[in-house]
Amino acid sequence: MRVGIPREIKSHEYRVGLTPGSVRELVHHGHQVVVETGAGEGIGCSDAAYRAAGAEILGTAAEVFATADLVVKVKEPQPAEFALLRENQILFTYLHLAPDPAQTEALVKSGCVAIAYETVTDSLGRLPLLAPMSEVAGRMSIQVGAHCLEKEQGGSGVLLGGVPGVAPAKVVVLGGGVVGGNATRMAVGLGARVVVLDRSLARLAQIDELLLNTVETAFATLDNIEHHVLEADLLIGAVLVPGASAPRLVSRPMVAAMRKGSVLVDVAIDQGGCFATSKPTTHANPTFVDEGVVHYCVTNMPGAVARTSAFALNNATLPFVLALADKGLVRALTEDPHFRAGLNVHHGRVTHPAVARDLGYAF
Ligand code: NAD
Repeated sequence: MRVGIPREIKSHEYRVGLTPGSVRELVHHGHQVVVETGAGEGIGCSDAAYRAAGAEILGTAAEVFATADLVVKVKEPQPAEFALLRENQILFTYLHLAPDPAQTEALVKSGCVAIAYETVTDSLGRLPLLAPMSEVAGRMSIQVGAHCLEKEQGGSGVLLGGVPGVAPAKVVVLGGGVVGGNATRMAVGLGARVVVLDRSLARLAQIDELLLNTVETAFATLDNIEHHVLEADLLIGAVLVPGASAPRLVSRPMVAAMRKGSVLVDVAIDQGGCFATSKPTTHANPTFVDEGVVHYCVTNMPGAVARTSAFALNNATLPFVLALADKGLVRALTEDPHFRAGLNVHHGRVTHPAVARDLGYAF
């Protein structure tokens, strides 16, 4: 199969669909790979590295789209890319179609086959191609939170790990899933006092087993949330109800009652956020102060660490890219119902039930 990697053109997107290491795997499997010049520049992967891995470098995205059977990207196609998609071409990338009727219509019109990273599932009902970004955001949440606690950032001037003779900070993690679990490990590693709250006892048990005696777990009742939030130096919002807006677990009066200079990192902001005072921010202007509390609510946190994020994403997507290239579309999807769950648009039809329902397409 001929696999194409265009350079990402969405604003501030530095990741790339396939790293040179992934290209080498495809070439080793007997496939051809074409890469747009400069596609890996943002994460330090040169054209020379792609050539060494066996790829052919092409000058423009138009040439990549014109020749590839399978296009592997990171972000959804941008309007400039819509016209480049061809009938029968396979597009494998993050799509997020439900809130995006214009993109959905463009994919339908193109006649391409669009498979979305975010709807591929696994045998436990999880979303394995979203998980790497939650790992990144969870780990990042503690380092940005620690930075925000510094006086220069409006924080209370507390060092997460404390020092001998001075108590460490209290970090409270709301939601102990992928984001929350990774945040917890980082906070424990820095020597903070950590409490994780979740509605899932199974999840709390897993965290307890993994981080025995280094972390406190609590069932997420109103009482427990209020008690721990009011004592927090750093509060991480990491709850998710799949397909729904994040539950607002912390009210404005609760935020107002926190110690001044405490820090909220609302990772769940991409689903609306779980603190009443949250509003989306960007990497260019990541924080604001409300009720005397510093808020960090960046919706695309992994973008700040594009290199780590690109490699993490490739680790998760490569087996699926190889399956498509080795087996072809029909066999790859019929043999794996979890991969098939990623199919969103097929030859002019919307094939994902939630996308079809939300955008009014026949299913
Ligand atoms: P996850 O499903 O792995 O974990 C969510 C956890 O929330 C689960 O353990 C669930 O039991 C818990 N939960 C649900 N309702 C709860 C409630 N009322 N009280 C307490 N716990 C509750 O999800 P995840 O992958 O960790 O993602 C968490 C959020 O982070 C999502 O909204 C995701 O989109 C977001 N995210 C944001 C960024 C970013 O850049 N801002 C990056 C990655 C992920």
